[in-house]
Amino acid sequence: MEFILVHFGGNSMEREVRVRFAPSPTGPLHIGGVRTALYNYLFARHHGGKMILRIEDTDSQRFVPGAEKYIIDSLKWCGIEIDEGVGYGGPHAPYRQSERREIYLKYALELVQKGWAYYAFDTAEELDALRKEYEQRGETFSYNFKVRTTLKTSLSLSKEDVQKRIDDGEKWVIRFKMPENETVQMHDLIRGDVEINTSTLDDKVLYKSADALPTYHLANIVDDHLMEISHVIRGEEWLPSLPLHYLLYRAFGWEDTQPEFAHLPLLLKPTGGGKLSKRDGDKMGFPVFPLFWVSPTGETARGYREDGYFAEAFINMLALLGWNPGTEQEIFSMQQLIDAFSLERVSKAGARFQPDKAHWFNAQYMHTKSEEELAKLFMPQLKAHGIVTDMKTAGHVAYIMRERATLIGDLWDLTSYFFIAPEEYEPKQFRKYWNEQNRDILIKLRDVLEGISDFSASATEAIVHPWIESQGYSMGQVMNTLRLALVGAGKGPGMYDVTEQLGKEETLRRIDNLLKQNVI
Ligand code: GLU
Repeated sequence: MEFILVHFGGNSMEREVRVRFAPSPTGPLHIGGVRTALYNYLFARHHGGKMILRIEDTDSQRFVPGAEKYIIDSLKWCGIEIDEGVGYGGPHAPYRQSERREIYLKYALELVQKGWAYYAFDTAEELDALRKEYEQRGETFSYNFKVRTTLKTSLSLSKEDVQKRIDDGEKWVIRFKMPENETVQMHDLIRGDVEINTSTLDDKVLYKSADALPTYHLANIVDDHLMEISHVIRGEEWLPSLPLHYLLYRAFGWEDTQPEFAHLPLLLKPTGGGKLSKRDGDKMGFPVFPLFWVSPTGETARGYREDGYFAEAFINMLALLGWNPGTEQEIFSMQQLIDAFSLERVSKAGARFQPDKAHWFNAQYMHTKSEEELAKLFMPQLKAHGIVTDMKTAGHVAYIMRERATLIGDLWDLTSYFFIAPEEYEPKQFRKYWNEQNRDILIKLRDVLEGISDFSASATEAIVHPWIESQGYSMGQVMNTLRLALVGAGKGPGMYDVTEQLGKEETLRRIDNLLKQNVI
């Protein structure tokens, strides 16, 4: 285990790195969320620290069944390992906030008692009416220091009245008492120093009696504290919450162990403007989720895994969206990412998602796969097309064509003719090559091939090549006619790779099939 030096409001101390990925199970995990998890993981592993998975499910209105499992499965597929958390256990269990509900009330009450928070009894209707009233005057209602003593709160009502309302079962919330006109100075590891005047901020709800649950802010701070989190690495959308979080640490008296913060830049649309959304993916034909997703109501969304991407390629691509190694290197294994990663090299500016680049990364990984790896990936596709073959053949055929494939799913289209003889011929090629002269050549070539005993690519080439030259034929003419017979189209790898793979019997059979066709 390694300890790193962290700074807390002027103090420095050695601390074990403990980071957390804290998603809310409100739907499938967006690739922006996967990137947040990835950067947390890389940071933790780089420093020999721990990676925690906490599920923040206190917003019951936005809870989506199946989302938690989806998050866990996605992280597994990506190779992002969890040390403690939901599904893994650990010393701070439970890690699902809905199972920690009794913890939070105590802390909310502590803030009330210390004068950092207060009870508010306003109903949703009353607050709505206030909002409308302000709107009509062209103003925006904000629950803050200006109004808190004029509304139904423990700051305006008598102690007895407050107690009576609580005893009578009236619904209440606890709100944070945001200080007036104070400058909060904050530090972000990516953005540097940030400051804000508290008079621009409102009194956020921390706890609701209606469902006996805390809101995100309270639960988040309490859990980060109890789980001994050293660094909070999360999306930029949480930056506006940072002043409140700083003040909560102060209110609890936890400044000494307050984590350091790093807010990651947004993942932007391919066109640059705005956050990357599912709609962008639908429009431009790429997934924005790691795995295929079916919502409880049956809506579906594409996933990188099912679209035929390698997890390593997906992770490699994501890592470079917002972080750069400071060198020209683009291909990184997970271990190389762990070694090279630092928050200092995460950019402040949003990173534009490029679908072509996702393809490019996948192709790079495809090109380095071995025959054995390719066989495992390709076999299910072959089965789905009703092809019965062995791993060796599947691997070899995929290996020959890997340079032309981008996604795993491309392999079938690129290689199907190895398994199924042409039933039709591509019309253009047929018109171009199926004439009397080429038929005569093909008849002679058939005899040459029939006489060859070693059908390996090199041995066949060593006989056929000089034969074509000795006959004075054009190499292209002969090879393209043979290609028409064996592949049925103008595609495929070198012809000797095709003949070797098909074997003599099948090669001759396909030549005979073409010879049965009338010439044009
Ligand atoms: N539950 C929050 C989310 O869904 C976590 C924010 C944080 O990391 O503090 O993004």
